[in-house]
Amino acid sequence: MAVPLNYHLLSKPAGAACNLSCKYCFFLSKENLYGERESPLMDEATLETYIQQLFESSAGPEVQVAWQGGEPILRGLDFFRRSVVLAERCRKPHQRILHTIQTNGTLITDEWAAFFKQHKYLVGLSIDGPRALHDAYRIDRHGGSSFDDVIRGWTCLQRHAVDVNILCTIHAVNVDHPLDVYRFFRDELSARYIQLIPIVERGTADSLALANQGWGGLKGKDRPLYRQEGNLVTDRTVPPAKFGQFLNAIFDEWVRHDVGTVYVTTFDVALGSWLGQHNACIVAPTCGSALVLEHNGDVYSCDHFVEPEHLLGNVRDTPLRALIASEKQRRFGNSKHDTLPKYCRECPVLFACYGECPRNRFVQTPDGEGGLNYLCAGYKVFFSHIDKPMKTMAALLRQGRYADEIMALTATGG
Ligand code: SF4
Ligand code: SF4
Repeated sequence: MAVPLNYHLLSKPAGAACNLSCKYCFFLSKENLYGERESPLMDEATLETYIQQLFESSAGPEVQVAWQGGEPILRGLDFFRRSVVLAERCRKPHQRILHTIQTNGTLITDEWAAFFKQHKYLVGLSIDGPRALHDAYRIDRHGGSSFDDVIRGWTCLQRHAVDVNILCTIHAVNVDHPLDVYRFFRDELSARYIQLIPIVERGTADSLALANQGWGGLKGKDRPLYRQEGNLVTDRTVPPAKFGQFLNAIFDEWVRHDVGTVYVTTFDVALGSWLGQHNACIVAPTCGSALVLEHNGDVYSCDHFVEPEHLLGNVRDTPLRALIASEKQRRFGNSKHDTLPKYCRECPVLFACYGECPRNRFVQTPDGEGGLNYLCAGYKVFFSHIDKPMKTMAALLRQGRYADEIMALTATGG
């Protein structure tokens, strides 16, 4: 069976282990899958098997060696040095390597930053805005601020000129301050790459009270495995309409001043949609090309579905290529399309949304059909709001011109 050309695999070298206790981070609960006695650290044999199979199964010219967590840096620098050597050894002549890592930034030192620079890592760094907004939920294990440690990590990366993508979650607190968030990144940090990620934490009548306490503060049996189930949401979850207003406010600032100098993933992906492309799984008709590898070699269908029923197998027993191309994974990817409600199929912004991610599809449409995206109201507002400027930018690009010409047109009312 053929492996999709553009598949992407995130790997967790330290499992769900993390030095912070962010309240909304239900990924911390994934430690329950493996029990307290099993080390969450990826061993050398699994690393070697994984890297070998990653390069064997990649058909495209670029292979991403992508790490995330928990906090991947907890695995230690020697592990990452070894991964770079292995990747170089396994690379086929036509393959380029892109190393990426997502980190909370608090443990980054000059030694780490120099390593990232040397090997051209793209670093995703989690910051939720200026101090008060960041510290709303991104707290350390004692419930204290993590802001200064993150900024120290950011500064270190800047000193070494490492490419950094800001990963900002949008939640119940910072959603009311879109321009404070955006201008902090643009003006105070001089960030050029920003990813905005809505927080949606689901729960059932049974699980919600516990979930509202925050995943970081819970331990062991008090922290049940988070599952994509239930149609209730935690207090930290971003309200849909406010989510749309948040995106609109930042878009309006960006489209007047920053096209071509600040890259906001949501806007880039949307421009792709207006050009007839699908540049992210969440806005594509089907998905299933973004898998995740746990520290012990287990592969799951998607990072958001690390649950027993979405386990595909283990790379130590089954070649990665077979897991990616499996019938189970194909069904997972196709279900994004097959479960789309009629309300979405008739939606004027379907081409840009495609019902977003199945993990967020747990509310009813106005006519009572299940499976509508919880964030629908926000996406509708946002995609309708940006339609005209997106059409303009798409037309500019089709004419071989630059999208940033829109800023002059906007200033003159064009
Ligand atoms: S489930 Fe969501 S995040 Fe996962 S691959 Fe599908 S669209 Fe992407
Ligand atoms: S905006 Fe709402 S109705 Fe339209 S495709 Fe997205 S989720 Fe479905």
